[in-house]
Amino acid sequence: MLAGMNLLPFEPQPPFRPRAFVPEKTDLGDWSQIEPLFDKLESAAAPARAPAELERWLLDGSELTAALDEEFTRRHIAMTCHTDNAGAETAYLRFIEEIEPRAKPRQFKLARLFLEHPARAGLSQERYFVFDRSAQAQADIFRPENVPLETEEARLSQQYQKLMGSLTVKFQGEEKTLVQMGRYQEEPDRALRQEAWELTTRRRLQEADRFEELFEQMLKLREQIAANAGFPNYLQYTFKARGRFDYTPEDCRKFHKAIESEVMPVLRGLQARRREKLGLKTLRPWDLSVDPSNLPPLRPFDDVEVLSARAQEIFNKLDAGLAGDFRLMREKNLLDLANRKGKAPGGYQSTLAESRLPFIFMNAVGMQRDVETILHEAGHAFHALAAREKDLYAYRSAPIEFCEVASMSMELLGNEFIETFYSTDDARRARRKHLEGIVDIFPWIATVDAFQHWIYSHPGHARGERRLAWLELMDRFGGDVDWSGHEQARALLWHRQLHIFLHPFYYVEYGIAQLGALQVWRNAKKDKAHALQAYHRALALGGSRPLPKLFEAADCRFDFSRQTVKPLVRLVQNELAVLGE
Ligand SMILES: [Zn+2]
Repeated sequence: MLAGMNLLPFEPQPPFRPRAFVPEKTDLGDWSQIEPLFDKLESAAAPARAPAELERWLLDGSELTAALDEEFTRRHIAMTCHTDNAGAETAYLRFIEEIEPRAKPRQFKLARLFLEHPARAGLSQERYFVFDRSAQAQADIFRPENVPLETEEARLSQQYQKLMGSLTVKFQGEEKTLVQMGRYQEEPDRALRQEAWELTTRRRLQEADRFEELFEQMLKLREQIAANAGFPNYLQYTFKARGRFDYTPEDCRKFHKAIESEVMPVLRGLQARRREKLGLKTLRPWDLSVDPSNLPPLRPFDDVEVLSARAQEIFNKLDAGLAGDFRLMREKNLLDLANRKGKAPGGYQSTLAESRLPFIFMNAVGMQRDVETILHEAGHAFHALAAREKDLYAYRSAPIEFCEVASMSMELLGNEFIETFYSTDDARRARRKHLEGIVDIFPWIATVDAFQHWIYSHPGHARGERRLAWLELMDRFGGDVDWSGHEQARALLWHRQLHIFLHPFYYVEYGIAQLGALQVWRNAKKDKAHALQAYHRALALGGSRPLPKLFEAADCRFDFSRQTVKPLVRLVQNELAVLGE
């Protein structure tokens, strides 16, 4: 057992199904113990003749993948909960440097053996369509020479997280993380907001060169990865690698345009209303999060125990099944919610693939946003639990575009019961804030996505050109905000967007999914029980169906053209009108 493993917030959990292939005592951090299992799978492929034997073989491979995935996840959780713990860092890095690069080619070999297997043709097309399609795509893009490049990419990602997590400022006599500084943006005292904003921004800008260099190293690696796999650029490569079978880069560009024409007028309207209510000539970057009536920020909770208990009450009101799921997570300590120094930024949900249990990581500081985040991550957790019964590892998780429907729907559905945190008036404010956030996020999604479309289709571009491309998008999607005196901060605003560094192109999914979530919410307004039934039905499919089918199971359309965007934006606008001033 490696040092650092006792840093997990929860007790070790047994596998959901007893292991049938991986011996109980295997040390999954030791390649010499893992390798024989891959050998065994490889030699067992050929003798499997009937489709049923091939299926058994797939399940054995699935079990090994899940066991390795859980080992990785545990180390990742320990590292992100304690970025300042050397043992946790070493254990994590050892896995990504020593195990993953060796396991990947072997996984690829197994995919090849599957694709070439004579019994493959006899498998049920209904059950194996998605699995087969993914295996084929994986095999098509796999290049052994990319494995060390991906390892290097993962190492750089970890450096970005470490750098971000280490940034602090001295504010009002105390050392604060940049995440902790976020809450001052909701303070009615404008001078205080400005001071906090400038301090935080300056701190990030001090590291601007490091962020740029880190990103450029990643960029070079990614371009090489795409070239090695025979793609003209990393954009094309990513669509295949991310399994985007059901939409194209062109669809995304149309989505950006739909956001520009349908959402931007609404955003500008909200910004004008905010400016007038605050009595300002222009909106500055530090005027965007404060309550438009200049009320003190919503303070839904002081202590994360309260956050967890109130969230439980919301799920109790929403649905008995979901309430049970959340209770299970609380009982098993599968939540690490409080922000503290040495924690990686952001929030995530990850799944322990073998025990088939979800874990939620957050940096809660007592803001309304934290309430939204816990509802969001709980949606992901419900997804993991709903798909628990799927015996194939690959089918226990859905494509991201649908995963985010699970989570974003939960924000909208949960907000209907937000009175567990607030008085009637504050609940109304919280709902307004959430819906305004949806209007805000679409243009930001378009910006981040279009920026990456630009970056990865302009290989060899200069830093200055990248800056101009970003600024052009800020002009299109930034709305009416006065950045004068802070031009550098505006030009480098993307440094704070972790996805651009860690998960390239993983952002448009939020937009596609938000459209799904708005549809689930619209359905729930008509018939809550029916909508929740569809929600659960779709979640339980895991990743066993193509994207359009998953949306369909949730009673939604998989489409992000202007025709879909327009009425949903209208719905949000109407709801805001009902909530009033
Ligand atoms: Zn999410």
